[in-house]
Amino acid sequence: AKDAGKNNYSVFKAIKNNIGIEQLTLESSMRKALQNEEFVLHYQPQMDIETGEIIGTEALIRWNHPVLGLVPPAKFIPIAEENGLIVPIGEWVLRTACKQNQMWIEQGFIPMKISVNLSTRQFLKRNLIDNVKQILSETNHDPRYLELEITESMTMDVEYAVDVLGEMKKLGIQICIDDFGTGYSNLYYIKLFSIDRLKVEQSFVRDIMTDKNDADIVATIISMTHNLGIDVIAEGVETEDQLNFLRTLRCREAQGYYYHRPLPADQIEQLFTKCTG
Ligand code: C2E
Ligand code: CA
Ligand code: CA
Repeated sequence: AKDAGKNNYSVFKAIKNNIGIEQLTLESSMRKALQNEEFVLHYQPQMDIETGEIIGTEALIRWNHPVLGLVPPAKFIPIAEENGLIVPIGEWVLRTACKQNQMWIEQGFIPMKISVNLSTRQFLKRNLIDNVKQILSETNHDPRYLELEITESMTMDVEYAVDVLGEMKKLGIQICIDDFGTGYSNLYYIKLFSIDRLKVEQSFVRDIMTDKNDADIVATIISMTHNLGIDVIAEGVETEDQLNFLRTLRCREAQGYYYHRPLPADQIEQLFTKCTG
């Protein structure tokens, strides 16, 4: 009876706020998905271009829907971002990624960094740092092997960003700016935020061989990281030509279908190497 009351209330609220019934259904099924553990993480390798070795993975969420099958994040993350469910979902992602990475380390695989995407709403939540601390200690995960991916737009409130990113740095976590080149970025801020790595937006990489503009942008970003002394990874690398071009720009790291698609945990393990001795 209590649940029914809640539902009525949200329907009422939805009508009042002009939210479509479809979206409302999606919201409540997303809530259930979290309880029923229908979300899964896939992991995409990040490669050292020179050695061809895996240097880390990026955790990417999927919704294993009982009827629809595997739903890609583009279909539900924007809605979760809107209705606030992204906060508990993002927490689940961080906990699951740390748990998994720690398990791999304990199984004797060469320790690697795991990258986790943060959403804007998560980033702006005032208890973010406490949350991250709590999850690191709960999973016994070494902060040095955790990288958080943020986007340029999250750093609009510069003072807040300096503060939060500084706290993360103090914890020993790495910070990467995702989709780099799409925002307003400014060299000065990158220094101020003590960023460890930039990830070149994949649409630039996609057209690197055909669009002179995109090639120039990628070249500029990479040379900028060299000057700043930070790492750079190219995302969305699909062909050998793209890879060779990146190599000539002295880009050291890449991620993309050319190497591997995002894979479930049991499949990605097959690509890992055990520590010896
Ligand atoms: P993103 O963080 O930029 O992730 C990269 C996306 O590019 C992934 O799509 C990945 O599968 C795809 N990709 C990787 N290599 C290639 C390639 O060579 N070619 C092409 N065409 N695509 C490639 P995915 O997994 O569908 O994720 C889409 C977006 O959803 C992500 O973009 C990210 O913004 C968001 N997302 C995914 N997982 C999470 C999460 O746990 N939390 C949050 N907040 N957002 C997430
Ligand atoms: Ca990302
Ligand atoms: Ca990206």
